[in-house]
Amino acid sequence: MLLADYSLLRHNTFGFDARARYAMHIDSVDAAAALATDTRIANMPQLVLGGGSNVVLTRDFDGVALIVAIAGKRVIGEDDDAWLIEAGAGENWHDFVAWTLAQGMPGLENLALIPGTVGAAPIQNIGAYGLEMGERFERLSAVELATGERVEFDRAACAFGYRDSFFKRAGRGRFMITSVVFRLPKVWTPRAGYADVARALEGAANPDAQAIFDAVVAVRRAKLPDWTVLGNAGSFFKNPVVSAAAFETLKQCEPGVVSYPQADGHVKLAAGWLIDQCGWKGRGIGGAAVHDRQALVLVNRGGATGAQVLELAEAIKRDVLARFDVELEMEPVTL
Ligand code: NAP
Repeated sequence: MLLADYSLLRHNTFGFDARARYAMHIDSVDAAAALATDTRIANMPQLVLGGGSNVVLTRDFDGVALIVAIAGKRVIGEDDDAWLIEAGAGENWHDFVAWTLAQGMPGLENLALIPGTVGAAPIQNIGAYGLEMGERFERLSAVELATGERVEFDRAACAFGYRDSFFKRAGRGRFMITSVVFRLPKVWTPRAGYADVARALEGAANPDAQAIFDAVVAVRRAKLPDWTVLGNAGSFFKNPVVSAAAFETLKQCEPGVVSYPQADGHVKLAAGWLIDQCGWKGRGIGGAAVHDRQALVLVNRGGATGAQVLELAEAIKRDVLARFDVELEMEPVTL
């Protein structure tokens, strides 16, 4: 059904009351494929929305918002090493992770409580607490919006990077992801190295996947704002990765800089620390502010606009560049 003058308030986690000229809920692959020949929306700009957890809506959208609501999750096979699990793009990510554990198939527990949908997960290759979705990915199905053609993408075609994929670059806006297949290894090894998770697990000698899931949920609840209470889009900036030489120069002036050496010799900096050092934690512009418990998260304190969030982001970027000579890159996409 084509809905007119549709509020996107419930479809973006920042809680901006932007409106779309039209909206459609897409609940099947056939419905996705039929879009290409739907004369009512021919030549109209299209915006695919999953949970709206990685987007900054800066204005009303003069086109059709396509809200992905394709459901379903099932075990589709196994080999000696792993189970293969398929989920519809519209499934809630966190509920899906909990369901895999209930099936006795761990491997995604570090990614508990990440807002958004299964279909949105590959777009920015979601990651947390030492695990990236790309490590558990097998393939995905998508529909090319312009042609209605059904296409499969394997891991190489997705070109996953740090919070990055083909769908944020050359593929941006061209496809609707309809389902994703995950490969969950039968031999499970815990990833409990991140300090917050390790602390939450203290006392547990051999934590199982459920214990890690519970620890991640507890840490996230304590530290990250709940978007249903305080609008936000998770981490707003990527952690910058700099060369060893640039890091040495920086460390001379800023001995306390929080950093994580990478396997390839580069050094990852904690963007939240850089922002905090510039005095931005808890400060804002209009209703847009830096979260007071986690400087990497920008929040809508109420009545903020997407434009204010971008203005705040620019001011932060300017300050971090001036003080540390480090360029921050935004993680969410902007409309
Ligand atoms: P944190 O523990 O305060 O640490 C700050 C940053 O340092 C993190 O972003 C993380 O980088 C890095 N880090 C910490 N421990 C590390 C280790 N042992 N080895 C390598 N790098 C380490 O981070 P936080 O903000 O509370 O977030 C916790 C995790 O959830 C992080 O992995 C973060 O990326 C993820 N997260 C993602 C989003 C999102 O929207 N994308 C939102 C909230 C949290 P990495 O980011 O590279 O892991």
